[in-house]
Amino acid sequence: MPRGRSAEAMRQVTRDRVAKQRERAEQAAELARQREAEARHLEEASRERAHAEALAKAAADVERERRAAEATARRQAEADRLAKHAAEEEERHRTRPITILSASRWLGESPLTTLARVRHAELPLVRGLPGDRVRACDVEALILADARRQPPVYHHLAQAPLIAEGQIITLSDACAIFAVPIPEDVDTSVPVAEAVCPKCSNWLEEHGLLWQCLDWSRCGYQAVRAGDTWRQRAGWFGVWAPPRERERQVRKWPVCVRFAQAPQLLGVPQSDDGAPSITYPAPPPPPARPSVAAPRSSPSVYFRAAGGGVGPSYRSRFERLMNEGT
Ligand SMILES: [Zn+2]
Repeated sequence: MPRGRSAEAMRQVTRDRVAKQRERAEQAAELARQREAEARHLEEASRERAHAEALAKAAADVERERRAAEATARRQAEADRLAKHAAEEEERHRTRPITILSASRWLGESPLTTLARVRHAELPLVRGLPGDRVRACDVEALILADARRQPPVYHHLAQAPLIAEGQIITLSDACAIFAVPIPEDVDTSVPVAEAVCPKCSNWLEEHGLLWQCLDWSRCGYQAVRAGDTWRQRAGWFGVWAPPRERERQVRKWPVCVRFAQAPQLLGVPQSDDGAPSITYPAPPPPPARPSVAAPRSSPSVYFRAAGGGVGPSYRSRFERLMNEGT
């Protein structure tokens, strides 16, 4: 191998190596650049993801807060509604109409006394069906007002009506006490016929002396009234019979009833008006009487100027002598 060629070859080899090295370095640099770009890209992506997550979280927070506010508002509205309903219900309970019988029990007096109160407008009456009643709050107010007046009147709640079972009361009083309508002997809202047609059982209409069947165009029955008797109309052909008398379905009510019989007689429905919602004012406890057997024995207590004494005060020296012997 010639030396020149060899040297040339050596240089060529060296050049090749250098070129290869450069190429490798370039490849490495390219790789590094690629990795760097990849890393940057990943970083960017993760930042974007984080941003999106933060946005979503914020939106979720806002939504949750909105839901919570809505739920709170709904709960509040429900609570308000319940409170309003309870208040209305309480008011309705407070002003509910009760029978005079219940009111007398609440007032601890005879139903007749309470009825007199109502008739003297001391207790306002609530007109209604089936009977008139008084309001619970008015009775309660009366109990409280009586305890405040001078001298005070203290009512007590009675468990049963304070009236003798055999007490005789008028029917109208019984109706008012039990809050039932007064029964009427005759119901005047229904036209009453005096006589009934014997052929078709219709009522007879009065035309002066002549009485005609209500369904006269078809039945043709006529009768003439002469005093208390019926007679055939002049010119009547065929069989004729006097009209039948009307049957009066009238219940005879007694004027007076015994208190115990009235509910059954009047068909009073079983009702419970409950108890008043107030606490009854009670009389103050009687002042403790000073002990006569062993009074305190300080003379200044006994003979103090009038009105200022705090201890047992005797009305006279004699009374003290009788009690203490000094
Ligand atoms: Zn007829």
